[in-house]
Amino acid sequence: MDIGFIGLGKMGQPMARRLIEAGHSLVIYDTRAEAAAPFVALGATLAASPAGVADRVETVMASLPEPHIVESVAAGERGVIHGKRIKRFVDLSTTGSTAAAAIAAQLAAKNIAQIDSPVSGGVAGAVKGTLAVMVSGPQEHIDVVKDALGVFGTVFVVGHAPGMAQTMKLANNFLSASAMAATAEAIVMGVKAGLDPAIMIDVINAGSGRNTASSGKFPNAVLPRTFDAGFATALMLKDVRLCLAEAKAAGVPTDMMGIVASLWQRLADEIGADKDFTTIIQPVERRAGVIVGKAGK
Ligand code: NAD
Repeated sequence: MDIGFIGLGKMGQPMARRLIEAGHSLVIYDTRAEAAAPFVALGATLAASPAGVADRVETVMASLPEPHIVESVAAGERGVIHGKRIKRFVDLSTTGSTAAAAIAAQLAAKNIAQIDSPVSGGVAGAVKGTLAVMVSGPQEHIDVVKDALGVFGTVFVVGHAPGMAQTMKLANNFLSASAMAATAEAIVMGVKAGLDPAIMIDVINAGSGRNTASSGKFPNAVLPRTFDAGFATALMLKDVRLCLAEAKAAGVPTDMMGIVASLWQRLADEIGADKDFTTIIQPVERRAGVIVGKAGK
């Protein structure tokens, strides 16, 4: 099918590539010309704005960093809302349910449906097509895009009200953020006591402490000290903050979320919001006076 794709970043690039490989025709847009160029070489059509994308296709997907950017791409001055052909906007970004509902309402006024479709599984999952794709929105529009979304991974339709898939994604990323922060403290404690971090990871993965950080991020990006999982600290901090705000607004306990959000804030302040989120171990190492992995024990 003809699909618009806006936002060709760390996640958008491999997802757009998979759509092309599956036989879909893409009309693309990114504020960075260099991000779009490789897709033009693969046959994609480059538009000059989000509205330009939405002039040409009925389905527009977006993978964008922050909720305010999604809002401007959807409903801003040159947003998809002004497109002549668009019927549905599929937001692959982690936007949060409040922003998603606000954007859905603006688009609905122009008879454009919003499908929330945040994803989990990282850049590696986007490359392999093994993402968890969380979907909410009007069923008749989901039916149109379900096969295309299936090239990204496993599609889970979690509800039909605006933002439901975003709430699902925030719950998931809170757990991912917690696992990363907790595993960093556990491994640093062990290394300071003389344990080998590689053996610790093997034991944890064979035991009850196993989690996404111990099974993926530590062996792949922390122990080799490559810190290249492909997810910026700023984006993880955004997700944890959105989750905390949403939970507070819902009146549910946020003791853990509050602690985890402040840990990610400290990382952003100390190491840099642009750094990969696996660097969260570095402030922990600094305080403990040890280094985990290749350069250390
Ligand atoms: P990224 O910063 O690498 O990519 C964002 C892209 O959007 C960039 O190419 C940027 O140039 C483009 N962009 C920014 N403003 C724009 C605008 N106004 N118009 C058009 N293009 C614009 O981010 P990412 O890591 O690919 O993440 C994208 C989304 O997916 C985020 O919401 C993130 O939370 C979510 N996500 C990321 C990961 C991951 O592992 N990186 C995993 C799951 C979900």
